[in-house]
Amino acid sequence: MNINPFQTAISQLEDAAKVAGTDLDFIEAIKYPDRYVEVTIPLKMDDGTQKIFQGFRAQHNNARGPYKGGIRFHPQVSLDEVRALSFWMTFKNAVVNVPFGGGKGGIIVDPKELSEGELERLSRGYVKKIYPVIGPSFDVPAPDVNTNGKIMGWMLDEYEKITGTKAPATFTGKSLENGGSQGRTEATGFGGGYVLREVLKEHAVELKDNLTVAIQGFGNVATYFAESTAGLNLKIVALSDSKGGVYSELGIDVAAAEAHKKSTGALRGLAGTTEITNEQLLELPVSILVPAAFENVLTAENAARVKAKVILELANGPTSPEADRLFEQKEIVVIPDILANSGGVATSYYEWYQNMHNESWTKEDVLKKLDALMVAAWKSVHETKVKYKTSYRSAAYIVAINRIEEATK
Ligand code: NAD
Repeated sequence: MNINPFQTAISQLEDAAKVAGTDLDFIEAIKYPDRYVEVTIPLKMDDGTQKIFQGFRAQHNNARGPYKGGIRFHPQVSLDEVRALSFWMTFKNAVVNVPFGGGKGGIIVDPKELSEGELERLSRGYVKKIYPVIGPSFDVPAPDVNTNGKIMGWMLDEYEKITGTKAPATFTGKSLENGGSQGRTEATGFGGGYVLREVLKEHAVELKDNLTVAIQGFGNVATYFAESTAGLNLKIVALSDSKGGVYSELGIDVAAAEAHKKSTGALRGLAGTTEITNEQLLELPVSILVPAAFENVLTAENAARVKAKVILELANGPTSPEADRLFEQKEIVVIPDILANSGGVATSYYEWYQNMHNESWTKEDVLKKLDALMVAAWKSVHETKVKYKTSYRSAAYIVAINRIEEATK
């Protein structure tokens, strides 16, 4: 089934507005991005031929601060996906209470098919096209799926060359040598871990002991999230990547899984595990399910077969509205993406702040600040859930809507 992520985003907003009785004119005004640009990037390939790539940047809302959000390199990038992701960034930044609005960008490309040189030229080519609409006080991009600190470094270099400025705060998620922040790489996964710690305290009675976890994805977010659960008395029984998943009833050693993936390029074949598909992973009888790869993996098609008691959304938009309704009926606790994965952008804010003020904080400092910020965000969402007797998702939207409405006024 083809689910339009932007329709999902709008439906979540409308559900929350109904619960809170928000002014509908205001809701209409914040549904769509302020603007988006679509760019054409010609790329000279290593063999001398030229290929044309299509890229996007959507700027959703800047009532609370500069537009902010990642850049994704993936064959399935589309305008609707980028618009939806920029929308979620506005709400995510408001939930975690950092002074940014929402933006997102992407290029339709499979970066695995490019050489390092081609990837660099494509990254620089994208900046050549979008530089007039980005900048430290206007729109601050960051990494997302298949982009990283190295790519941010190329992009920043290109931006500074074109504009003749020294402006490290234009991009976040940079490498440390390039003005990045300590703790940014770990931040989204660790932030998810801090939120889960609070969820486990709140729902201790329903969840009981012997908690098991299945994580879809084993990229940046999933890996650090898995590491962050070390002190939570949980057993990770399943992990996956794009090639498939692995399962062990006895629990998977995360460090061994990382080493195996590093040496073989995949999780498959990890000692002591059996192979499962990504679809099977989502339906395992575990306590906590953590989608940490892609959107729209939990839909009307498979939701009835989901057995987890808690779903912690580390990917953006993993649950369709139909699946969400079913989970609510089944009293499955869904911790929404705009809260659960907001640790990354919160730390991007710390990076931006350090760049703007010429400061450099220690990792310990950053993670301590992040923990306090995530706990504060969790508390506002939980209190709102209790007040309106609604889902965590609608509660998170209500917290964000109120903050955006106040800033707009
Ligand atoms: P990543 O590229 O590091 O990892 C993505 C993971 O997903 C990889 O393990 C990959 O093998 C796996 N994957 C790819 N296609 C798959 C498929 N069809 N089925 C199952 N697994 C598949 O990306 P990331 O930075 O870890 O981001 C993961 C998710 O978290 C995305 O939805 C992203 O938007 C979201 N997110 C990331 C950040 C961040 O700071 N990196 C912040 C907020 C949200």
